[in-house]
Amino acid sequence: MADRRCACHSHRKEKRCCGPFHAGKLPDTPTQLMRSRFAAYARGLYDYIIETTDPEGPRWVADRAAWVASMEQFTAMTRFAGLRIVEAEGDTVTFHAVLEQMGQDASFTERSVFVQRDGRWLYHSGDPTSPAPR
Ligand SMILES: [Zn+2]
Repeated sequence: MADRRCACHSHRKEKRCCGPFHAGKLPDTPTQLMRSRFAAYARGLYDYIIETTDPEGPRWVADRAAWVASMEQFTAMTRFAGLRIVEAEGDTVTFHAVLEQMGQDASFTERSVFVQRDGRWLYHSGDPTSPAPR
């Protein structure tokens, strides 16, 4: 794991932030999982996104190849410019992601719901919230 800043914009080094989660350590909290999933999108770690998505939730995609292809398309056109945790409470995390797509602002705010299965936190679902809180 490279000695670089973490892609979740924590300003910490990757090896002391989301890197260990990408390498197999289990996040203790939904916020850690949320940050590490953002960083995984930014780094193109599609297996991590799949492994941390609830197979029983609405975001699960049965066709893995199609899922990876859509993530590749998304990340190829997106710059993951910033991340701010707005609120974390229980099994929900509200975050604001600063994204750019082809020079256009594509930022969004989402309230994500996480579930714990067999001791592992998984991303279950998310709802956009608007307008974005400041
Ligand atoms: Zn991180």
